[in-house]
Amino acid sequence: MRIRPFEYYAAINQRDVLDKLAVYDPDAKVVAGGTDLVVAMKHKTILPRVVVSLHKVRELDFVREEDSRVRIGALARHADIAKNTTLNDSFPILCEAVSLIGSWQIRNVATIGGNLCNASPAADSAPPLLALDARVVIADSEGENEIPLSSFFTGPGATALKPNQLLKEIIVERPKTRSAGCYLKLMRRKAVDLSLVGVAFQAETDQAGEKLHRVAIGLGGVAPTPIRAPEAEARLTGLSYEEAIKDIPEAARAAVEATSPITDIRALADYRRTIVEIYVRRAAKEILNTLFNGEGIQK
Ligand SMILES: Cc1cc2nc3c(=O)[nH]c(=O)nc-3n(C[C@H](O)[C@H](O)[C@H](O)COP(=O)(O)OP(=O)(O)OC[C@H]3O[C@@H](n4cnc5c(N)ncnc54)[C@H](O)[C@@H]3O)c2cc1C
Repeated sequence: MRIRPFEYYAAINQRDVLDKLAVYDPDAKVVAGGTDLVVAMKHKTILPRVVVSLHKVRELDFVREEDSRVRIGALARHADIAKNTTLNDSFPILCEAVSLIGSWQIRNVATIGGNLCNASPAADSAPPLLALDARVVIADSEGENEIPLSSFFTGPGATALKPNQLLKEIIVERPKTRSAGCYLKLMRRKAVDLSLVGVAFQAETDQAGEKLHRVAIGLGGVAPTPIRAPEAEARLTGLSYEEAIKDIPEAARAAVEATSPITDIRALADYRRTIVEIYVRRAAKEILNTLFNGEGIQK
C-alpha cells in the first residue's frame, strides 16, 4: 500500500508547530508516534497535504508534578507513562491501562496525545483518564484553552480540536483521600489489538475512610466515544463497604444502560454489554476490597 506524496516538516518547538498549522490550515496534520496516522495514510482515510512532525518537540514530552495536580505532555510515550513513579503512585489505573496498549514496540513510540487525538472509541488511555476527571490543554497560534476530557471526544475518530490546534497536555488532579482504581480490558486472545471493551473503575473514600466519597466508571469500546457511566457511579457513591458490595449488581446493570455498543466484525453488541456488566462487577469488588479491606494494590 503506497502513501500519497505529502510535504513533511520537522518542527523544532511548540511555537513552530502552531505557526505551521496556522499557515497550512486546514491541510496539515501533526504526527507524533505515527502508529495511527501512518496506517490511516496508507488506507487513504486521512490524506494530509502537509505532515508536521512533533518528533523534535521535546518540550511536550514530560510528566510534571505541580501542587495537587500532575501534568502529562501530549508527547509522553505509553512505555514511559507505564513506568513513571509519580503516575504509578497517584494514578496506577492509567499506568495499568497504557501498559496494555499494543506491543512493547508500539508503546515505545506511541504517545498519549496521539491515543486521545485519534479518538478511537476503544482508545485504552481514555476510560481511566475520564474516570480521573482529566482535563486537556489545547493550543493554537492565538493561545491556550483548558477543557474537560469529557468534552474532547465528539464522535468516532472526531475531537473538539480544530485543524490548526494541538493537544498540548493532560492534567489530572491527585485524589485527596484514599483511592484505588483498576482497568479491565477485553481483547482477542494472542493478538496485539484494540480493546473490545475497556472498563476503568476508580474510587475514593471519605476522610474517615468509612464511605465511598467518589466513584467513577470510564467505558471504552461500547459507544461512539469513550464514556462515563454516571448512574452506576451514583448508585455506589456515599455507601459504606457493606452497602456498596450489595449494590454492585445494580450498579453494573446501570453501567450497561449507559452504553450503546455496535455489532461489528470483532464482537456482537450483546456480548459487549455482557462484558461491561461482568467487568464492572469484577472491578468494583476488587476496588472495594482494596479500599476497605486492604487487599491488592492500594494508594
Ligand atoms: C499494532 C497496533 C496495535 C495497537 N494497539 C492499541 C491498543 O491496544 N490500544 C489502543 O488504545 N491503541 C492501540 N493502537 C493505536 C495507536 O498505537 C495508539 O492510538 C497510539 O497511542 C497513537 O499515538 P501516536 O503517537 O502513534 O499517534 P499518531 O499516529 O502520531 O497520531 C494519531 C492522530 O492524532 C493526531 N495527533 C497526535 N498527536 C497530536 C497532538 N499532540 N495534538 C493534535 N493532534 C495530534 C495525529 O494528527 C493523528 O491524527 C495500536 C496501533 C497499532 C499499529
